Amino acid sequence: MRLVILGGPGAGKGTQAQQLCDNLGIPLLAVGDILRAEIAGETDLGKLAVSYVEKGELVPDEILIRFIGRRLLLWDVFNGWVLEGYPRTSFQAEELDFLLEDLAQELDWAVWLKVPTEVLLSRSIERDRSDDEPEILQRRLDLYEERTMPILEYYEHRNKLLTINGDRSPEEVQQDILKIVNS
Ligand code: AMP
Repeated sequence: MRLVILGGPGAGKGTQAQQLCDNLGIPLLAVGDILRAEIAGETDLGKLAVSYVEKGELVPDEILIRFIGRRLLLWDVFNGWVLEGYPRTSFQAEELDFLLEDLAQELDWAVWLKVPTEVLLSRSIERDRSDDEPEILQRRLDLYEERTMPILEYYEHRNKLLTINGDRSPEEVQQDILKIVNS
């Protein structure tokens, strides 16, 4: 099973992606978490990404496309994965499809956690993360609307989009996703 999880900041991507991995027995690639760890470890990728992540900007496509291209070649993700927070731009979505084609693999679903903007805002404010400070959070929300929401159409066109009402308890959201991906 290969799933991407799409949603704004505070949509519950991290929670749902982790539970899906536990329930389906497949590994998680959480790009935001990976970037934060790389930044903390001051790795080459961390050094390239830090100024963008701190400001709530998107890390340039070419950096992440290269990273994902290498990461999906490793043996631990050969039989499936949940990709959280990636793709976030149309270019990333297209490049992911090219990559999967080269690997003779296919994406099963793009799961979109649909949550009203005011709920995204209030949930993110409750978190204690430096990139959830008000101005940075607003930038992240704007980028989600401008850059990530167009991807929904991309996946809809390919009959891959699974729209889930994310404005409910985490358990209900998870059950809804599982019902469809397991059917
Ligand atoms: P997240 O935890 O998924 O909200 O990601 C935190 C930050 O990492 C984002 O605000 C971006 O700076 C960066 N980031 C994560 N995923 C991507 C992506 N697919 N493309 C560009 N930047 C990303």
